[in-house]
Amino acid sequence: MSEYIPQIETLLNAQDWYTAVDADAGTVFVNLEIGGTPHSMVWSPTKGADGTIEFSILLSFNQIKTPADRALPHELTHSVLGTTCFSNSLEEGICDYTAARIGAGYSDFFEKNDIDVMNFYNYDVRVALEDIYDAQKGNEMLDSIGRAGGYTYSIQTQDGIFWYECSQSFVEYLVKNYGMDKTMQLIREGNDETDYQTYLGVSFEELKDEWIACVKNCEPQYTIDEYRQMTSAFFKENGGVD
Ligand SMILES: [Zn+2]
Repeated sequence: MSEYIPQIETLLNAQDWYTAVDADAGTVFVNLEIGGTPHSMVWSPTKGADGTIEFSILLSFNQIKTPADRALPHELTHSVLGTTCFSNSLEEGICDYTAARIGAGYSDFFEKNDIDVMNFYNYDVRVALEDIYDAQKGNEMLDSIGRAGGYTYSIQTQDGIFWYECSQSFVEYLVKNYGMDKTMQLIREGNDETDYQTYLGVSFEELKDEWIACVKNCEPQYTIDEYRQMTSAFFKENGGVD
């Protein structure tokens, strides 16, 4: 865990995250608990005694069984953001963005096989859109991606898993095309959907269309069957569960 926080700071370019809690803090304490709750959770950092910063993470047994340790870097990222984003979807998307790159599960898989993370998730989203969802109908789940507020689907449902993947794919698109700094400003300082224009210089509607077009045109590095074979071979070899 102590290795994850600096990696998250580097990825997000957010070395200063704790100064909002206490500019002089020298130590960060993280209380980690593993329990039988349906979901993993994180509490906001607070000032502790003696100039420390403290927060707690509860990892669900349920979730640490799924791709290795994605849940921990995901929850830590919520803390490093230091704020609740106006868009639930953007916040979960950035947490999965870092988790895919530093969790011992998928990050090794991507590195070992020289796979582009964005390509992998966008392709997955494309296949799901073609198989399950009809983007033309503007269904409710797809509509909530990147929106202000919005509800989080339960991660245990198919819609929920897909909502997280779409949110990540949307954030991957923002970072790739507008850069991490602007994306982080939007996530940390934005108040509503008009702030896409403020921080990225493009309207939310336009951006949504751009992203959907990007996903639909995504050319995979490997076919879905090749990806499936590669991931199951990798997780078998590395002891995780895919
Ligand atoms: Zn989360």
